[in-house]
Amino acid sequence: MTECIFCKIARAEMKAQVIYSDEDVVAFRDINPQAPTHVLVIPRKHIPSIADCAPDDLPLLAKVLQTGAKIAEMESIRESGYRLVLNAGPDAGQAVNHLHVHVLGGRKMTWPPG
Ligand code: 5GP
Ligand code: ZN
Repeated sequence: MTECIFCKIARAEMKAQVIYSDEDVVAFRDINPQAPTHVLVIPRKHIPSIADCAPDDLPLLAKVLQTGAKIAEMESIRESGYRLVLNAGPDAGQAVNHLHVHVLGGRKMTWPPG
């Protein structure tokens, strides 16, 4: 069993505000929200980062992204707009080494990102 915190959330060994889950993915509210909606979508499978995605993982990656869009619907930000963010590595500030997509919305976003 991995000690990864997101694996623990996926196994319900660690508390999180889970708003959606199925056999492949889990979506939960970020503990330190950067926007009115800030949800993380993860695959249940431990993949450290997008850089570690094998060709066999691509359907799962597609499902993670599609779930991000579903969360935006659930959070009623489809029309106002939202951002899906996937950080990879130190320069992007990836802090948790379990692939996750941020769903951010409910406020105007700036570009370029900081
Ligand atoms: P990263 O910087 O790796 O792309 O994003 C990691 C995100 O995970 C951060 O936004 C951080 O606030 C969130 N996070 C870290 N630990 C926990 C936790 O234990 N629970 C929840 N819900 N979010 C977490
Ligand atoms: Zn993990």
